[in-house]
Amino acid sequence: MQILLVEDDTALVEALKKALVTEGFAVNSLSKGKQAVISVKTELPDMVILDLGLPDMDGLDVMRAMRKTSVELPILILTARSSLDDKVAGLDLGADDYLVKPFDVDELLARIRVIERRASSFKHSGITVGNVFLDTVSHEVSVAGEVVNMSRREFMLLKGLMENAGRVLTKGSLESKLYSWGEEVSSNTIEVHIHHLRKKLPDGFIQTMRGVGYIIKRS
Ligand code: CA
Repeated sequence: MQILLVEDDTALVEALKKALVTEGFAVNSLSKGKQAVISVKTELPDMVILDLGLPDMDGLDVMRAMRKTSVELPILILTARSSLDDKVAGLDLGADDYLVKPFDVDELLARIRVIERRASSFKHSGITVGNVFLDTVSHEVSVAGEVVNMSRREFMLLKGLMENAGRVLTKGSLESKLYSWGEEVSSNTIEVHIHHLRKKLPDGFIQTMRGVGYIIKRS
């Protein structure tokens, strides 16, 4: 799962990144609201952790802009402001949860797990395209009813493509679903994962759009 962390406190960013990566999340961080709004459109993160006190924009405006892009995107607010008004305003604008600083990292992780569970039970527990079924809760993939084994990263890659079936995803946006920024990724990593995935999936399931990216066509 790819988390976009929007926070301008670099020490906090480093600490949170470390904890989240240890838990198996891919984390991208941005310190400005404007970049974050764009990133939600282009990188399609699975969850946003949003600090309300940002240098360039009010965090609540950032959230409002993100909600225009995606109604379902889980957003967890971090705020140093403890006033009730901000919390209520945040929740009114569609935040899924909030934490008041200073908070315990374990508390944050627990809240993320709750949001994750809620999001997956909300949506549906799986995605079907053709005869491929991907279970987002059990992390199992089956082709024509037969379970296919795959690595965590292959699963995440396939999930990203199936969730966006009918849309071309660029190599860059797929990389960002699998790896945190700053993590060493060799230039052919996605090709290699796609190569392995293709062996496990029906012929032509993942199509290459030369020079653009990859697509799974809706069936
Ligand atoms: Ca701040």
